[in-house]
Amino acid sequence: GKSSRFLKDGYWKIFRLEVPLELDLGKDNFDISDAVLESSAAALGCKTGVLPRTALSVVRKSFDARKDPKFVYTLQLDVGECLRARPESRHFLLKLRNKPSKLEFCNIPWAPLDLISQLRQPGVAMKSFHSTIGGKNVKERPRVVVVGSGPAGLFAALVLAESGVLVTLVERGQPVETRGRDIGALMNRHILDHESNLCYGEGGAGTWSDGKLTTRIGKNGGSVQTVLATLVQFGAPSNILIDGKPHVGTDRLIHILRAFRHHLQNLGVKIMFGTRMEDLIVRDKRVVGIRTCCVTEASGCLGISSVVEADAVVLAVGHSARDAYESLLSHNVLMSPKDFAVGFRIEHPQELINEIQYHRWASEVQRGKGRVPVADYKVATDVDLNELNVSSDAEEHLHKGCYSFCMCPGGQIVPTSTDEAELCINGMSFSKRSSRWANAALVVTVSANDFSPLIANHGPLAGIAFQRSIEREAARRGGGKLVSPVQTVPDFLNDKISEHELPASSYRLGVQSSPLHDLLPAHFTLALKQGLIHFNDQLSGFIDKRALLHGVETRTSSPVRIERMTESFESVTMAGLYPIGEGAGYAGGIVSAAVDGMHAGFALAKYLTTDKHLS
Ligand code: FAD
Repeated sequence: GKSSRFLKDGYWKIFRLEVPLELDLGKDNFDISDAVLESSAAALGCKTGVLPRTALSVVRKSFDARKDPKFVYTLQLDVGECLRARPESRHFLLKLRNKPSKLEFCNIPWAPLDLISQLRQPGVAMKSFHSTIGGKNVKERPRVVVVGSGPAGLFAALVLAESGVLVTLVERGQPVETRGRDIGALMNRHILDHESNLCYGEGGAGTWSDGKLTTRIGKNGGSVQTVLATLVQFGAPSNILIDGKPHVGTDRLIHILRAFRHHLQNLGVKIMFGTRMEDLIVRDKRVVGIRTCCVTEASGCLGISSVVEADAVVLAVGHSARDAYESLLSHNVLMSPKDFAVGFRIEHPQELINEIQYHRWASEVQRGKGRVPVADYKVATDVDLNELNVSSDAEEHLHKGCYSFCMCPGGQIVPTSTDEAELCINGMSFSKRSSRWANAALVVTVSANDFSPLIANHGPLAGIAFQRSIEREAARRGGGKLVSPVQTVPDFLNDKISEHELPASSYRLGVQSSPLHDLLPAHFTLALKQGLIHFNDQLSGFIDKRALLHGVETRTSSPVRIERMTESFESVTMAGLYPIGEGAGYAGGIVSAAVDGMHAGFALAKYLTTDKHLS
């Protein structure tokens, strides 16, 4: 009994299997190379010859640059296959019952590629919803309007449409083809289209991005895996399912989004690009639709307004759509200020980061073409401003988190403003990450205490007013036309305007030497300075005259939360309104926004199919 449990359709997970860089010659991340086979045999306590390659599969593969660079694997051993291919393996398999360290037994295989075939058309989990309403004729089927085609809106629309709901997807920006041309005009000719830019358009803010698919919400969770598998279904490389730091890059994201769009259209989703939600239509304290305006040109509203009626409105507008928050406020939708972070983007030559991280192995990187990933970093520290004798009105001890965020190896800094008078920047990269620069946000945490004087005038939107004041000052110091104010890191630390020739930068709209050391509130600057000193201890060489700070990074996450109910995702004060994704304050990044959209889609589809609602 007990022994047969371990010999029947079981799987052993092998954790933290290390293979030195110079030995790992696998062709791709799924490959079980000789070195992996040998290390696995050692971990399992058997001879290499007893272990069939076919019984092993890669669950996760990461690169660890510390000390001797190595690949670190999580593998899965299929007991059944092992016995079939090598009956003599029975002996060592039985010994594994004593649970050696780094091993774990499970009954269900981890099979990411199988996930894809189980999903969609109609997916396993969606079948029951689909049979409830999918068969009904069009007039009887519930209608939902989804506002915003970022990751949250797209995944909500997908789940709802596959459940048989009639979905209209409203997006103020343009489809990726036109949006690409608008972004080209911005980068090459400084022409900012207010409705089609780095923040607005198909795919949302994450399209012209680094396409990092890392998330803090647990990468092995079913929801994250489902999102990643869906992206693979639409053309993302299957490597993202096992990569410790999955990344797709802008060039690939554009193709993925096009396939996503065609899939939605095949499911009957009506997609309205160049259409901005102007207002909610509220009857008897319930949202019954939205008022929209056609905005296909940079000139703003063309005056062609229309009404889209719906049983529910999913609001997935991201955190740059400040006009949408104003509209919600006018309807007394409950919102609260939320912590976020502001600071600068720091840019180094990528070569320097490779050297700091990989030392003598740095030459292995080959600008994205080698087996060794282009080096990244992640740094964080807690700065105690009391120790630095900073005076503050705040009663509590003044601690500020200072950290790097959204690091883009081999990438470029891009303007993410939606208005020329407000400058904010972010980072993006292409799939190869082959540019000469590395950039990352370097930010400090902002809490309501930091902008309390603004609350009297701006209520729950005070955080936005705070962001805006910093963005306006940055635009002014850059001298306009979205030119970025910059200062070298040593000069920032010494309160000195950079006078000599500035280091080269990837930012295509131009840079202007300007004081950044007095742009943010003084205690923010101090926290950033302390942070930089700490980070230089961790990454020796981080403070360098070639390191350039760019102003400003303000939109790290939403400064507002639209309060909603936990299970139903419905606004606590406005029936029929479903605020989701980053703009609503429930996600930070592509994957977590997609997961939030997917869960909200399921919850809403379930609700719309209940007898109570349909009667
Ligand atoms: P958004 O993606 O912001 O989508 C909201 C959509 O709603 C937009 O398309 C907008 O046009 C539309 N909209 C807004 N208002 C209206 C209206 N009134 N009517 C109609 N439509 C409207 N995250 C990562 O995880 N990895 C990365 O590498 C990464 N890099 C980034 C790089 C850049 C340059 C930027 C700007 C962001 C990056 N992010 C990254 C963050 C990520 O893009 C966001 O977390 C994510 O896109 C949030 O998804 P969302 O669906 O909630 O909102």
